[in-house]
Amino acid sequence: MNEEQQWQAIQDRDRRWDDQFVYGVMSTGIYCRPSCAARKPCRQDIRIYRTPAEAEQAGMRPCKRCHPEQRSTNEELRQRMHALCRYIEANVGQSLTLEHLGRQAHMSSYHLQRRFKSIVGVTPKQYAEGCRLRTFKQGLKSPGTVTDAIYDAGFGSVSRAYERVPTHMGMTPAQYQSGGRDMAISYATAPTPLGVLLMAATDRGLCFVELGDDEAEMLTRLVAEYPAAEVSRMPAGGSETFWVWMQALCDHLRDADLELDLPTDIRGTVFQMKVWNYLCRIPKGETRTYKAVAEAIGQPKAVRAVANVCAANRVALAIPCHRVIRGDGGLGGYRWGVERKRMLLERERKASAEAS
Ligand SMILES: [Zn+2]
Repeated sequence: MNEEQQWQAIQDRDRRWDDQFVYGVMSTGIYCRPSCAARKPCRQDIRIYRTPAEAEQAGMRPCKRCHPEQRSTNEELRQRMHALCRYIEANVGQSLTLEHLGRQAHMSSYHLQRRFKSIVGVTPKQYAEGCRLRTFKQGLKSPGTVTDAIYDAGFGSVSRAYERVPTHMGMTPAQYQSGGRDMAISYATAPTPLGVLLMAATDRGLCFVELGDDEAEMLTRLVAEYPAAEVSRMPAGGSETFWVWMQALCDHLRDADLELDLPTDIRGTVFQMKVWNYLCRIPKGETRTYKAVAEAIGQPKAVRAVANVCAANRVALAIPCHRVIRGDGGLGGYRWGVERKRMLLERERKASAEAS
Protein backbone atom coordinates (compact mmCIF):
# COMPACT_ATOMS: atom_id res chain seq x y z
CA MET A 1 0.00 0.00 0.00
CA ASN A 2 1.52 3.31 -1.01
CA GLU A 3 1.20 6.71 0.60
CA GLU A 4 -1.45 7.84 -1.85
CA GLN A 5 -3.69 4.83 -1.06
CA GLN A 6 -3.18 5.35 2.66
CA TRP A 7 -4.22 8.98 2.39
CA GLN A 8 -7.25 7.95 0.33
CA ALA A 9 -8.21 5.33 2.96
CA ILE A 10 -8.11 8.04 5.63
CA GLN A 11 -10.21 10.36 3.46
CA ASP A 12 -12.76 7.58 2.89
CA ARG A 13 -12.68 6.40 6.52
CA ASP A 14 -12.23 2.97 5.00
CA ARG A 15 -12.55 0.28 7.67
CA ARG A 16 -10.88 -2.32 5.48
CA TRP A 17 -7.53 -0.66 6.20
CA ASP A 18 -7.97 -0.50 9.97
CA ASP A 19 -5.64 -3.40 10.50
CA GLN A 20 -3.01 -2.21 8.03
CA PHE A 21 -1.85 1.01 9.63
CA VAL A 22 -2.64 3.87 12.01
CA TYR A 23 -1.97 7.56 11.47
CA GLY A 24 -0.68 10.13 13.91
CA VAL A 25 -1.70 13.78 13.90
CA MET A 26 1.43 15.81 14.67
CA SER A 27 -0.33 18.92 15.95
CA THR A 28 -2.32 16.99 18.58
CA GLY A 29 0.01 14.05 19.28
CA ILE A 30 -2.88 11.62 18.84
CA TYR A 31 -3.03 8.57 16.60
CA CYS A 32 -6.11 7.04 14.95
CA ARG A 33 -7.38 4.21 12.83
CA PRO A 34 -8.05 5.08 9.15
CA SER A 35 -11.80 4.79 9.80
CA CYS A 36 -11.88 7.20 12.76
CA ALA A 37 -14.89 9.51 12.68
CA ALA A 38 -12.87 12.45 14.04
CA ARG A 39 -12.38 15.53 11.90
CA LYS A 40 -9.83 14.87 9.17
CA PRO A 41 -6.40 16.52 9.55
CA CYS A 42 -4.61 18.02 6.61
CA ARG A 43 -2.17 15.83 4.81
CA GLN A 44 1.01 17.63 5.92
CA ASP A 45 0.04 17.11 9.56
CA ILE A 46 -0.06 13.30 9.58
CA ARG A 47 2.45 10.48 9.87
CA ILE A 48 1.71 6.85 9.05
CA TYR A 49 2.68 4.06 11.45
CA ARG A 50 2.41 0.39 10.67
CA THR A 51 1.29 -0.59 14.19
CA PRO A 52 -0.10 1.10 17.31
CA ALA A 53 3.12 0.13 19.09
CA GLU A 54 5.16 2.04 16.53
CA ALA A 55 2.97 5.13 17.02
CA GLU A 56 3.36 4.94 20.79
CA GLN A 57 7.14 4.57 20.52
CA ALA A 58 7.08 7.84 18.61
CA GLY A 59 5.31 9.43 21.60
CA MET A 60 1.75 9.47 20.21
CA ARG A 61 -1.31 8.83 22.38
CA PRO A 62 -4.27 6.68 21.25
CA CYS A 63 -7.45 8.47 20.17
CA LYS A 64 -10.29 8.17 22.70
CA ARG A 65 -12.81 7.86 19.93
CA CYS A 66 -11.53 5.04 17.69
CA HIS A 67 -9.31 3.24 20.25
CA PRO A 68 -6.57 2.22 17.82
CA GLU A 69 -4.65 0.52 20.66
CA GLN A 70 -7.38 -2.13 20.84
CA ARG A 71 -6.92 -2.88 17.19
CA SER A 72 -5.37 -6.32 17.42
CA THR A 73 -7.91 -7.62 19.96
CA ASN A 74 -10.74 -6.41 17.77
CA GLU A 75 -9.27 -8.08 14.73
CA GLU A 76 -8.81 -11.31 16.64
CA LEU A 77 -12.40 -11.15 17.86
CA ARG A 78 -13.66 -10.49 14.38
CA GLN A 79 -11.87 -13.54 13.05
CA ARG A 80 -13.37 -15.63 15.84
CA MET A 81 -16.88 -14.43 14.97
CA HIS A 82 -16.33 -15.09 11.27
CA ALA A 83 -15.13 -18.59 12.14
CA LEU A 84 -18.28 -19.04 14.19
CA CYS A 85 -20.36 -18.05 11.16
CA ARG A 86 -18.66 -20.84 9.22
CA TYR A 87 -19.36 -23.23 12.07
CA ILE A 88 -23.06 -22.33 12.05
CA GLU A 89 -23.20 -22.83 8.26
CA ALA A 90 -21.52 -26.22 8.53
CA ASN A 91 -23.95 -27.33 11.23
CA VAL A 92 -27.15 -25.85 9.88
CA GLY A 93 -29.12 -29.08 10.43
CA GLN A 94 -28.36 -29.05 14.19
CA SER A 95 -30.09 -26.96 16.77
CA LEU A 96 -27.29 -24.80 18.13
CA THR A 97 -27.86 -23.24 21.52
CA LEU A 98 -26.12 -20.06 22.59
CA GLU A 99 -24.30 -22.09 25.27
CA HIS A 100 -23.01 -24.50 22.66
CA LEU A 101 -21.80 -21.68 20.43
CA GLY A 102 -20.27 -19.94 23.43
CA ARG A 103 -18.18 -23.03 24.15
CA GLN A 104 -17.06 -23.05 20.52
CA ALA A 105 -15.96 -19.43 20.75
CA HIS A 106 -14.59 -19.69 24.31
CA MET A 107 -16.83 -17.06 25.81
CA SER A 108 -19.99 -16.80 27.90
CA SER A 109 -23.30 -16.91 26.05
CA TYR A 110 -23.99 -13.36 27.23
CA HIS A 111 -20.77 -12.03 25.73
CA LEU A 112 -21.16 -14.11 22.60
CA GLN A 113 -24.61 -12.71 21.90
CA ARG A 114 -23.33 -9.12 22.19
CA ARG A 115 -20.02 -9.57 20.37
CA PHE A 116 -21.57 -11.54 17.55
CA LYS A 117 -24.25 -8.95 17.01
CA SER A 118 -21.83 -6.03 17.09
CA ILE A 119 -19.49 -7.64 14.56
CA VAL A 120 -21.82 -9.61 12.30
CA GLY A 121 -24.87 -7.36 12.61
CA VAL A 122 -27.49 -9.97 13.56
CA THR A 123 -27.77 -12.41 16.47
CA PRO A 124 -26.36 -15.95 16.18
CA LYS A 125 -29.92 -17.25 16.10
CA GLN A 126 -30.89 -14.95 13.24
CA TYR A 127 -27.75 -15.87 11.38
CA ALA A 128 -28.52 -19.58 11.80
CA GLU A 129 -32.03 -18.96 10.55
CA GLY A 130 -30.69 -17.22 7.44
CA CYS A 131 -28.37 -20.17 6.76
CA ARG A 132 -31.20 -22.63 7.31
CA LEU A 133 -33.44 -20.84 4.83
CA ARG A 134 -30.64 -20.76 2.28
CA THR A 135 -29.89 -24.45 2.75
CA PHE A 136 -33.57 -25.24 2.54
CA LYS A 137 -33.99 -23.37 -0.74
CA GLN A 138 -30.93 -25.09 -2.20
CA GLY A 139 -32.29 -28.45 -1.00
CA LEU A 140 -35.58 -27.85 -2.76
CA LYS A 141 -33.77 -27.27 -6.05
CA SER A 142 -31.84 -30.55 -5.87
CA PRO A 143 -33.47 -33.97 -6.43
CA GLY A 144 -35.48 -35.23 -3.47
CA THR A 145 -38.71 -34.48 -1.73
CA VAL A 146 -39.85 -31.31 0.01
CA THR A 147 -39.92 -33.28 3.26
CA ASP A 148 -36.26 -34.33 2.87
CA ALA A 149 -35.27 -30.71 2.29
CA ILE A 150 -37.21 -29.63 5.38
CA TYR A 151 -35.39 -32.07 7.65
CA ASP A 152 -31.99 -31.54 6.00
CA ALA A 153 -32.27 -27.83 6.73
CA GLY A 154 -32.98 -28.56 10.38
CA PHE A 155 -36.55 -27.38 10.59
CA GLY A 156 -37.47 -30.37 12.74
CA SER A 157 -41.03 -30.74 11.53
CA VAL A 158 -43.04 -30.15 8.40
CA SER A 159 -45.53 -27.90 10.12
CA ARG A 160 -42.75 -25.78 11.60
CA ALA A 161 -41.19 -25.28 8.19
CA TYR A 162 -44.48 -24.26 6.63
CA GLU A 163 -45.08 -21.91 9.52
CA ARG A 164 -41.70 -20.17 9.12
CA VAL A 165 -40.90 -20.39 5.46
CA PRO A 166 -43.77 -18.85 3.48
CA THR A 167 -43.04 -15.54 5.23
CA HIS A 168 -39.62 -15.62 3.64
CA MET A 169 -40.47 -17.10 0.28
CA GLY A 170 -43.84 -15.74 -0.79
CA MET A 171 -44.94 -19.27 -1.72
CA THR A 172 -45.12 -22.78 -0.33
CA PRO A 173 -42.01 -24.97 -0.46
CA ALA A 174 -43.69 -27.13 -3.14
CA GLN A 175 -44.35 -24.08 -5.30
CA TYR A 176 -40.75 -22.99 -4.82
CA GLN A 177 -39.54 -26.44 -5.82
CA SER A 178 -41.51 -26.18 -9.07
CA GLY A 179 -39.63 -22.98 -9.89
CA GLY A 180 -42.69 -20.87 -9.10
CA ARG A 181 -45.06 -22.53 -11.60
CA ASP A 182 -48.46 -20.78 -11.86
CA MET A 183 -47.18 -17.96 -9.68
CA ALA A 184 -47.31 -14.30 -10.71
CA ILE A 185 -44.25 -12.42 -9.46
CA SER A 186 -44.02 -8.63 -9.60
CA TYR A 187 -40.74 -6.84 -9.03
CA ALA A 188 -39.28 -3.37 -8.82
CA THR A 189 -35.74 -2.03 -8.58
CA ALA A 190 -34.24 1.04 -6.96
CA PRO A 191 -30.72 2.40 -6.57
CA THR A 192 -29.33 2.40 -3.00
CA PRO A 193 -25.91 3.37 -1.64
CA LEU A 194 -25.10 -0.35 -1.52
CA GLY A 195 -26.10 -1.18 -5.08
CA VAL A 196 -29.29 -1.89 -6.98
CA LEU A 197 -32.07 -3.28 -4.81
CA LEU A 198 -34.50 -5.71 -6.41
CA MET A 199 -37.61 -6.57 -4.45
CA ALA A 200 -40.17 -9.08 -5.77
CA ALA A 201 -43.44 -10.41 -4.39
CA THR A 202 -46.20 -12.89 -5.05
CA ASP A 203 -49.70 -12.53 -3.64
CA ARG A 204 -48.44 -14.43 -0.57
CA GLY A 205 -45.59 -12.12 0.24
CA LEU A 206 -42.04 -11.14 -0.62
CA CYS A 207 -40.11 -13.80 -2.46
CA PHE A 208 -36.86 -12.05 -3.39
CA VAL A 209 -34.96 -9.14 -1.88
CA GLU A 210 -31.36 -8.79 -2.99
CA LEU A 211 -28.67 -6.28 -3.84
CA GLY A 212 -26.50 -6.35 -6.94
CA ASP A 213 -24.48 -4.27 -9.36
CA ASP A 214 -27.13 -3.51 -11.97
CA GLU A 215 -30.74 -4.15 -12.86
CA ALA A 216 -30.09 -6.64 -15.68
CA GLU A 217 -27.96 -8.81 -13.40
CA MET A 218 -30.60 -8.74 -10.66
CA LEU A 219 -33.39 -9.64 -13.07
CA THR A 220 -31.35 -12.59 -14.35
CA ARG A 221 -30.97 -13.79 -10.74
CA LEU A 222 -34.68 -13.45 -10.08
CA VAL A 223 -35.63 -15.41 -13.19
CA ALA A 224 -33.00 -18.07 -12.43
CA GLU A 225 -34.56 -18.57 -9.00
CA TYR A 226 -38.13 -18.75 -10.32
CA PRO A 227 -37.78 -20.04 -13.90
CA ALA A 228 -41.41 -21.22 -14.18
CA ALA A 229 -43.08 -18.11 -12.75
CA GLU A 230 -44.67 -15.31 -14.68
CA VAL A 231 -42.38 -12.38 -13.87
CA SER A 232 -43.41 -8.81 -14.58
CA ARG A 233 -42.60 -5.31 -13.41
CA MET A 234 -44.80 -3.92 -10.64
CA PRO A 235 -46.84 -1.11 -12.21
CA ALA A 236 -46.48 2.37 -10.67
CA GLY A 237 -50.14 2.28 -9.62
CA GLY A 238 -49.87 -1.35 -8.41
CA SER A 239 -49.93 -2.69 -4.88
CA GLU A 240 -49.54 0.35 -2.66
CA THR A 241 -48.23 -1.76 0.20
CA PHE A 242 -45.46 -3.04 -2.03
CA TRP A 243 -44.40 0.52 -2.80
CA VAL A 244 -44.58 1.63 0.81
CA TRP A 245 -42.23 -1.20 1.72
CA MET A 246 -39.93 -0.56 -1.19
CA GLN A 247 -39.61 3.02 0.01
CA ALA A 248 -39.18 2.00 3.63
CA LEU A 249 -36.46 -0.44 2.67
CA CYS A 250 -34.61 2.11 0.54
CA ASP A 251 -34.71 4.62 3.40
CA HIS A 252 -33.47 1.93 5.75
CA LEU A 253 -30.58 0.98 3.46
CA ARG A 254 -29.59 4.61 3.19
CA ASP A 255 -28.97 4.70 6.96
CA ALA A 256 -28.09 1.07 7.54
CA ASP A 257 -24.63 -0.03 8.50
CA LEU A 258 -24.34 -3.27 6.63
CA GLU A 259 -20.97 -4.40 7.97
CA LEU A 260 -19.16 -4.10 4.68
CA ASP A 261 -16.04 -5.73 6.02
CA LEU A 262 -17.77 -9.11 6.32
CA PRO A 263 -16.80 -11.80 3.82
CA THR A 264 -19.21 -11.61 0.87
CA ASP A 265 -21.14 -14.82 1.53
CA ILE A 266 -21.65 -14.01 5.20
CA ARG A 267 -22.74 -10.52 4.17
CA GLY A 268 -25.38 -11.97 1.82
CA THR A 269 -26.99 -14.00 4.60
CA VAL A 270 -26.81 -11.09 7.01
CA PHE A 271 -28.35 -8.74 4.46
CA GLN A 272 -31.30 -11.11 3.95
CA MET A 273 -31.92 -11.43 7.67
CA LYS A 274 -31.70 -7.69 8.23
CA VAL A 275 -34.17 -7.03 5.47
CA TRP A 276 -36.67 -9.60 6.72
CA ASN A 277 -36.29 -8.42 10.28
CA TYR A 278 -36.77 -4.84 9.22
CA LEU A 279 -39.85 -5.53 7.10
CA CYS A 280 -41.43 -7.64 9.83
CA ARG A 281 -40.74 -4.88 12.33
CA ILE A 282 -42.40 -1.95 10.53
CA PRO A 283 -44.59 -0.80 13.39
CA LYS A 284 -48.33 -1.17 13.41
CA GLY A 285 -50.04 1.82 11.92
CA GLU A 286 -46.88 3.40 10.56
CA THR A 287 -46.87 4.85 7.07
CA ARG A 288 -44.31 6.90 5.18
CA THR A 289 -45.23 10.46 4.31
CA TYR A 290 -47.74 10.70 1.49
CA LYS A 291 -45.32 12.84 -0.44
CA ALA A 292 -42.46 10.35 -0.12
CA VAL A 293 -44.67 7.57 -1.39
CA ALA A 294 -46.02 9.68 -4.25
CA GLU A 295 -42.44 10.42 -5.29
CA ALA A 296 -41.49 6.79 -4.83
CA ILE A 297 -44.14 5.62 -7.24
CA GLY A 298 -43.04 8.20 -9.81
CA GLN A 299 -46.19 10.31 -9.41
CA PRO A 300 -45.08 13.25 -7.26
CA LYS A 301 -48.32 15.13 -7.88
CA ALA A 302 -50.52 12.24 -6.77
CA VAL A 303 -50.16 13.10 -3.08
CA ARG A 304 -53.89 13.09 -2.36
CA ALA A 305 -54.46 9.78 -4.11
CA VAL A 306 -51.61 8.34 -2.08
CA ALA A 307 -53.12 9.78 1.09
CA ASN A 308 -56.25 7.83 0.35
CA VAL A 309 -54.53 4.52 -0.14
CA CYS A 310 -52.27 5.10 2.85
CA ALA A 311 -55.31 5.54 5.02
CA ALA A 312 -56.24 2.02 3.99
CA ASN A 313 -52.68 0.91 4.59
CA ARG A 314 -52.81 1.64 8.29
CA VAL A 315 -54.88 -1.47 8.48
CA ALA A 316 -52.94 -3.42 5.89
CA LEU A 317 -49.54 -2.86 7.49
CA ALA A 318 -50.74 -4.21 10.81
CA ILE A 319 -51.25 -7.57 9.14
CA PRO A 320 -48.21 -9.87 9.03
CA CYS A 321 -46.18 -9.14 5.94
CA HIS A 322 -46.65 -12.46 4.20
CA ARG A 323 -50.33 -11.73 3.77
CA VAL A 324 -50.58 -8.15 2.62
CA ILE A 325 -48.85 -7.99 -0.74
CA ARG A 326 -50.41 -8.88 -4.03
CA GLY A 327 -47.99 -9.88 -6.75
CA ASP A 328 -50.40 -8.90 -9.50
CA GLY A 329 -50.70 -5.36 -8.18
CA GLY A 330 -54.39 -5.57 -7.25
CA LEU A 331 -55.88 -4.18 -4.06
CA GLY A 332 -56.82 -7.59 -2.71
CA GLY A 333 -58.65 -6.31 0.37
CA TYR A 334 -61.29 -9.00 0.24
CA ARG A 335 -58.82 -11.78 0.90
CA TRP A 336 -58.65 -10.65 4.53
CA GLY A 337 -62.35 -11.13 4.96
CA VAL A 338 -65.48 -9.10 4.54
CA GLU A 339 -65.10 -7.25 7.84
CA ARG A 340 -61.64 -5.92 6.99
CA LYS A 341 -62.72 -5.00 3.51
CA ARG A 342 -65.55 -2.99 5.02
CA MET A 343 -63.11 -1.22 7.38
CA LEU A 344 -60.74 -0.44 4.55
CA LEU A 345 -63.45 1.11 2.46
CA GLU A 346 -64.73 3.04 5.45
CA ARG A 347 -61.27 4.53 6.09
CA GLU A 348 -60.77 5.32 2.44
CA ARG A 349 -64.09 7.17 2.37
CA LYS A 350 -63.16 9.14 5.48
CA ALA A 351 -59.75 10.03 4.06
CA SER A 352 -61.19 11.29 0.79
CA ALA A 353 -63.87 13.26 2.66
CA GLU A 354 -61.12 14.96 4.72
CA ALA A 355 -58.97 15.60 1.67
CA SER A 356 -61.72 17.33 -0.31
ZN1 LIG B 1 -9.51 8.42 16.28
